[in-house]
Amino acid sequence: MNRNCSYQARLKDQNLAYQLLSRKLRTTIVNRVIKSLRPKDLLNIYHSIHQERPISGAVPKIEAIPHSRESFLFMALFASIYRSASRVDIKTDIDVEAIIFAWDYFCQKFPGHIRERRPYGRLRPANFDEAWVIAEALKQGSADLRYCSSCKRNFFIIYGSLYHPICQVCQMDNLRRNTKTSMAN
Ligand SMILES: [Zn+2]
Repeated sequence: MNRNCSYQARLKDQNLAYQLLSRKLRTTIVNRVIKSLRPKDLLNIYHSIHQERPISGAVPKIEAIPHSRESFLFMALFASIYRSASRVDIKTDIDVEAIIFAWDYFCQKFPGHIRERRPYGRLRPANFDEAWVIAEALKQGSADLRYCSSCKRNFFIIYGSLYHPICQVCQMDNLRRNTKTSMAN
């Protein structure tokens, strides 16, 4: 690699680090994607953007993200935007630009509902870490986006979750119908 090329590569990495850290992605995740910058460099970039230290703690697990059936509706929306924007097969690869695009769109669509810190509501992903974890889970096969032939919508499933891998829109409709029937009886 010649000097010019490595300079350009470093500049490209710095730009990407800026893009990811300005959306508050955990430095541990950024570190997995960008190898040319040291963890200390990432912390410095984060601090220079936000004037605060990054949120510490473990990266969220995909099974722990949804707290209600409704969360799956939002996750399906996010995953659908991500899949449409992606230029790779999201089941085998990660498209960083598509995650950024989907996340920015999601934030625009639900302004004021995005939580950076706990307590999180039903609207998930609640922050860019969760958005990233969703994309990663789709690649690893621990989550999937499927099409429901009954309600004609995409639905999101997480394997090994407390919620069964079924369409939660139809499931909520069924539960509502059952409640009405039992109240009528
Ligand atoms: Zn359905």
